Amino acid sequence: MKTTRQITILGSTGSIGESTLDVIARHPDRFQAFALTANNNVEKMFAQCQRFQPRFAVMLNTASAEQLASAIKSAGIQTEVLAGIESLEKVASLPEVDAVMAAIVGAAGIRPTFAAARTGKLVLLANKETLVMAGRIFMDLVKQHNATLLPIDSEHNAIYQSLPHHFNGNLTAAGISRILLTASGGPFRRAPLDSLASVTPEQACAHPNWDMGQKISVDSATMMNKGLEVIEAHWLFEAPPEKIQVVIHPQSVIHSMVAYVDGSVIAQLGNPDMRTPIAHAMGYPDRIESGVSALDMFKVAHLDFEEPDFKKFPCLGLAYQALAAGGNMPAVLNAANEIAVESFLKRRMPFTAIPLMIEHVMKTMRQEEMSTLDDVLRTDEQARDAAQNWLANLQ
Ligand code: NAD
Ligand code: MG
Repeated sequence: MKTTRQITILGSTGSIGESTLDVIARHPDRFQAFALTANNNVEKMFAQCQRFQPRFAVMLNTASAEQLASAIKSAGIQTEVLAGIESLEKVASLPEVDAVMAAIVGAAGIRPTFAAARTGKLVLLANKETLVMAGRIFMDLVKQHNATLLPIDSEHNAIYQSLPHHFNGNLTAAGISRILLTASGGPFRRAPLDSLASVTPEQACAHPNWDMGQKISVDSATMMNKGLEVIEAHWLFEAPPEKIQVVIHPQSVIHSMVAYVDGSVIAQLGNPDMRTPIAHAMGYPDRIESGVSALDMFKVAHLDFEEPDFKKFPCLGLAYQALAAGGNMPAVLNAANEIAVESFLKRRMPFTAIPLMIEHVMKTMRQEEMSTLDDVLRTDEQARDAAQNWLANLQ
């Protein structure tokens, strides 16, 4: 019987990828890094290969893969270096792999995440964009191939921990009245509405509680992150939108809650550190040490709650709209948001243009049903084109 779990980390050089390796390093008897993947950060990937000696390292970018391969050869490391999207799919689906940490950012993560589900892996899902783009298709695939899906996103992991043990996807049968999805409110929670037009990428990326990649940091600043998470919760827990309530909780200590018909509310608390949900999902059903310090209630002292401001953060409303519309609309929302965030980060448009671009693209794209991954990828491409056109006209 195999004793160590072989893990592929998609996006190992990112924020979630590094936290995952930190947890792996604490439990060499339980986990082994089988494959590590990245876009183009050769230096970080080389350091990770030296330390973790994975069987495979994949760089999306071919030139980066060549650079890495030569460094690895000179250092006498045994890791085999591969390149391209097909190789990402390969290391997510090889028979030796037990679990796949899906931690690529954005739509770029969808193909390898699908490959992991299609081969029945334990899928540890950080890449929420996969569920936003292809919720029904992805959940069906997971079922069809007997894959196991565990949420890494801290809110969804908290909800998972707060559900009854034998939850079978039926909220009503489980006596659940609402899911309370907590949100920090981001760096602009207190900023006046008329100050948002001039905020910089640096200000938007300075999250008060969490240290994350750039894209999700901007998503937190616009609150699109919470919008994407509403859609993510809808698919993971079969929750209708009216049963998912966003609650602003600036301390980020309660990571989400489940409310029951008898009046009980079950919450999961902890310091804001992604190693907690990562260790929970990686060790499941065991509890394993994560490196996160114990929550000091006296230091926390206060837990505050507020209602979200849909006027100041229109992205949140757009996400509810996309979910209600269904079909291709969440994928359209996601693609337009990715172009909007990238354009803002490149200083090609102001922060306040982000929801305007997304709204425009949602209005221009025809509502359609999708039934395959190809449908999703086509929608993604068309919505990106529409977003780029809008930007070109703006300038
Ligand atoms: P990040 O930007 O720090 O890292 C992204 C990783 O993906 C890197 O390893 C990068 O090399 C790789 N990558 C980027 N573009 C790629 C491409 N085109 N093809 C292949 N690989 C590519 O991002 P992150 O903050 O770690 O977030 C990763 C995912 O986890 C996102 O979907 C995010 O929403 C989700 N998530 C992150 C956090 C967090 O605290 N950082 C919390 C919850 C959910
Ligand atoms: Mg989250």
